[in-house]
Amino acid sequence: MVFRELGRFEESLDHLNRSLTLIPPKHVVGRLMITCSVGMIQHAQRKHEEAARTLDEMLSGCTAIDYQPGIALAQMVLCNIHRALGNLTTSVEHGRAALTLARQLKLHRVECEVLNSLAEAALAANDVDHAEMVYAQAKEHSAHHSFARFEARALEGLAHTARARGDIAEAERHWRKAIDRYPIGMYDSTHAQQHLASLDDETTTCFRCE
Ligand SMILES: [Zn+2]
Repeated sequence: MVFRELGRFEESLDHLNRSLTLIPPKHVVGRLMITCSVGMIQHAQRKHEEAARTLDEMLSGCTAIDYQPGIALAQMVLCNIHRALGNLTTSVEHGRAALTLARQLKLHRVECEVLNSLAEAALAANDVDHAEMVYAQAKEHSAHHSFARFEARALEGLAHTARARGDIAEAERHWRKAIDRYPIGMYDSTHAQQHLASLDDETTTCFRCE
C-alpha cells in the first residue's frame, strides 16, 4: 500500500495481485483485506464500477464469516465509491452502516475516515451546512487520535465548503493547511494542489468533489 500512498497505482496492484496468488485459500481474512486494497486502488484510478464490484465481493465475504471489522471497512469504501458514482443515497447508507459499526467496535481509523466520506456525500448533495458540521467532527476526531491524513482530508473538505459559500480566501487557507498536514509526498495532497493552482476557476474539480 506504500505505492498507493505515492500514487503508483499499477505497481501497487501488481504487488497485491501477487500476494493474492501467494496467500493460501484458508487465510480468508487476509485475502479479503487484500481484495479491499485492490478495490481502493481501482477507486483511486477512477474505475469506480470495477471498484464497486470488488468491494461488493469483499463485503459478502466478510458477511459470510461475520468478520465485523471487515464489514465496517467494506461499507466505508463503498460509501466513497458510490459517492463518486453519484449514487448518493446508497453512499450515505453504506457510510452510516460503517460509522455505526466503527463506533461499536471502537475502530477510530474507520470512524475518522468515514466521517469525511459522509461529509463528502453531503457536499455532493449540496447540503453545505451538514457537510461542514461533519467535516468539523472528522477534523476534531482525527486530531484527537493523531490521524494526520484524515485531519488533512477534513481540512480539504472545509476548503470545499468555504468555496461552496463563495469564500475563496478561506478555501485557500484551508487547502494550504491541508497540504501542510498531509504526510510529505503523499499522493492525496495533489487534490488540494489542483485547487490551489486554479483558485479563480470555479469549475475546477478534484477527486473529492468531481
Ligand atoms: Zn475538489
